[in-house]
Amino acid sequence: PPKTDPLEGVTPVMAQFLTAKASQPDAILFFRMGDFYELFFQDAEVVAAAIGLTLTKRGKHLGEDIPMAGMPVHAAEGYIARLIRQGFKVAICEQMEDPSEARKRGSKAVVRRDIVRVVTPGTLTEDSLLDARGANRLAAVALRRGRAAVAVVELSAGGVDCVACHLVDLAATLSAFRPSEVLVTDKLFSDPEVKEALDGSGGVVQALASAVAEPAAASARVTRLYGVQSLDGFGAFEEAEVSALGLIAAYLETTQAGKVPALSPPRRSGQTGYLAIDPATRLSLEIDRTQRGEREGSLLACIDRTVTSGGARALAERIARPLRDPAAINAGLDAVEWLMERRGPRRDLRDGLRASADVARAVSRLALGRGGPRDLAAIRSGLTIAESLAGLFTVSPDPLTGPPERITACLDRLTLSPDLSRLMLDLAEGLSPEPPHLARDGGFVNPGFRPELDAARALRDDSRRVVADLEARAVAESGVPFKIKHNAVLGYFLETTAKHAEPLFRAGPESPFIHRQTLAAQVRFTTVELSELDAKISQAGHRALAMETETFETWRAHVQALARPLQALAEAMAELDATAALAEWAEEVGAVRPVVDDSRCFTVEAGRHPVVEAAVKKAGDPFTPNDCRLDGEGQGCARLSIVTGPNMAGKSTFLRQNALLVVLAQAGCFVPARAMRLGVVDRLFSRVGAGDDLARGRSTFMMEMVETAAILTQATDRSFVVLDEIGRGTATYDGLAIAWACAEALHDMNRSRTLFATHYHELARLEERLDHVCNLSMKAREWNGELVFLHEAAPGAADRSYGVQVAKLAGVPPAVVARARAVLDRLESEKAAQGRLDDLPLFAVMEPPPPPMASAVDEAIAALDPDAMSPREALEALYRLKGLA
Ligand code: ADP
Repeated sequence: PPKTDPLEGVTPVMAQFLTAKASQPDAILFFRMGDFYELFFQDAEVVAAAIGLTLTKRGKHLGEDIPMAGMPVHAAEGYIARLIRQGFKVAICEQMEDPSEARKRGSKAVVRRDIVRVVTPGTLTEDSLLDARGANRLAAVALRRGRAAVAVVELSAGGVDCVACHLVDLAATLSAFRPSEVLVTDKLFSDPEVKEALDGSGGVVQALASAVAEPAAASARVTRLYGVQSLDGFGAFEEAEVSALGLIAAYLETTQAGKVPALSPPRRSGQTGYLAIDPATRLSLEIDRTQRGEREGSLLACIDRTVTSGGARALAERIARPLRDPAAINAGLDAVEWLMERRGPRRDLRDGLRASADVARAVSRLALGRGGPRDLAAIRSGLTIAESLAGLFTVSPDPLTGPPERITACLDRLTLSPDLSRLMLDLAEGLSPEPPHLARDGGFVNPGFRPELDAARALRDDSRRVVADLEARAVAESGVPFKIKHNAVLGYFLETTAKHAEPLFRAGPESPFIHRQTLAAQVRFTTVELSELDAKISQAGHRALAMETETFETWRAHVQALARPLQALAEAMAELDATAALAEWAEEVGAVRPVVDDSRCFTVEAGRHPVVEAAVKKAGDPFTPNDCRLDGEGQGCARLSIVTGPNMAGKSTFLRQNALLVVLAQAGCFVPARAMRLGVVDRLFSRVGAGDDLARGRSTFMMEMVETAAILTQATDRSFVVLDEIGRGTATYDGLAIAWACAEALHDMNRSRTLFATHYHELARLEERLDHVCNLSMKAREWNGELVFLHEAAPGAADRSYGVQVAKLAGVPPAVVARARAVLDRLESEKAAQGRLDDLPLFAVMEPPPPPMASAVDEAIAALDPDAMSPREALEALYRLKGLA
């Protein structure tokens, strides 16, 4: 049968729309029509529902109304931002020629249109769509020959990273980048292990055809992206890395519609490795976001003293991906220490940086053809400031007091090459001090920079002056009260009222006034001289604009050619800012340089939780510092600490504080403590028992067990593990048994340095049974019948849980508290009498003991967990017990 053309009987514009839409079927198509973007069919309906655009109709398609929604072009950015935030992709289809050019091809010809860009969460470059202090990253994941790789591009700043890792570390590696969007092949998309990593990454996932990741195709695309013959010049890449880079290159080709972004060569970071922090740990420790997803309240927000957005991004990166190699960590610490000791120069450095603009993002926008004169101004300010900073620390040639390697490397990159100097001078001379956002309207090239431009502008302006004179002359010569006006259709004209125009109509053909238009009350004329001047002005105006546009294009091309050194310079400024900010923070809070080495030590003297300390101090209370000592190998040293103590005594704070000190130390930051020695950690784990999670209604116990399983399979003798109330999501015996078994396994098999907080005081008995366990308890005192938390971690197990006292503090009515105390006393005396504790199955090694004989009341009592109960549950339980007795 003859094929029917789907475009048959469709208007030419609609045919254009359908073709464009077919090339980007999963994106919302913004179709340019004059000064509007219009959306049709399902796109219009979806967007109307998602962001509340008004839905209307326009014309018919195959006999049906076409749903339509639209917005003025100048308002589009805000709508696009909202759609992207909701996870949509937006394809922008522009008019590629002036309508007048289309008309030259025939009266029915349609303006050419093309998709110029697909806006996706990971490929944004506009300041209005980006968070200035956070990086926006597109990541790709690939597996090859049993190895996993993550490639990441920050299109808005030009950085590209590549990390190869074991599959088990994929989730940790990926989540460290906090990507907005993750690319993966169709095939991997359905792989359960990869899926878990994708889910944990927080990014929108895009699946691409598997063929894109084939090594040959991938390598061809990547070399094309960089315009190089082979990738060898960038280093030796694993196949998985090339595949991942290939996915990124393919995605950029389609979304950027062939425009080549200015990217730095892929950094093969992670050669010496990162501290692996999986998504659950990241969340639990609130490293760069709180559990509610906010930056405020996180470790990062607490320590961030950067003064530029580039610096804020560099610091975020550093905290999100701490290192593993002591040499690299110490190089970072050297830089912080050096700046910490030099207050004056540090202040000058920060003052200088504060004034600089976001060079990295300006360069990227210009390279993608989206930048304007203001981006050039950002580059000019960056170059000027770089030049002034380069000499800041060159005072001492003495290697002992001169800057450490990291700082010297940054300063070297700030030293302008002849090319960059020329660009700076050019922009200083030619670009106006405060240029407009868009190049379109001109007005950003300084007078005196291009003589032809000055001439065109002079002609335009002089002619305007002649026009003004002409008004006076016309009035004088004709006696008619003319006013000279201008509009887009007529250009310049002489206007007067109908009454005054009357004599001019009666004048003979020798009259110089030529009638142009009659309105209700006004009549408009021109003269030969005026229309000549008008033509001259508009020509000169066009010429001036063309010259400005040309100048802009020259500068833009210059920036594009120098994109890499410019980006290197922006990175150096960002690193200096981040380093100086860490020194600033360290001085402010009294942090010290940690000793980081290859041992298995973990020794903290008087450590503090940076975030809790800030909150407690704000409320006017002191924060109690605590020591912590674990040792992964030493004889007679504990590598596992069981931390007990009443609720609210500070167990969680103590645990997280020590994990955060690991993060800070390995990120090359000073730590809030009197002293710290750390043998580098390979993987950091932090889990909180399900009890705290009930409010969020997850299948909590299951989740807790899945996460605990992950630790038991992945933690090594170099890892650091923090477990808070594991096992509490289930009934007492179960929970105790699980907690017991986990603690034993971590001690015997994983041999990780571990802090294990629990309200099962029975676990304290592990200290006697295992070689490397020590008990710690968070101290509380009863004072005048009141419970006082000392927030002090001291050796030994907690004597009691103070659950009843906590209930009292929480405002449980006195009668109920008194009754609970009485019940507790009875329970405790019974327990002591029966010596039950040692009958627990846990204490009878290996042999499964017979099930304990117990009355209904005993069982019900054993199932009670006062610490885990809400006051209401406690009350209900009391009534239930009463019913059984
Ligand atoms: P737990 O885990 O034992 O229930 P938390 O660690 O949640 O207790 O601490 C409860 C509160 O006690 C914290 O929110 C904080 O205000 C305070 N706190 C904890 N540790 C300290 C400390 N070392 N110094 C001062 N206040 C602390």
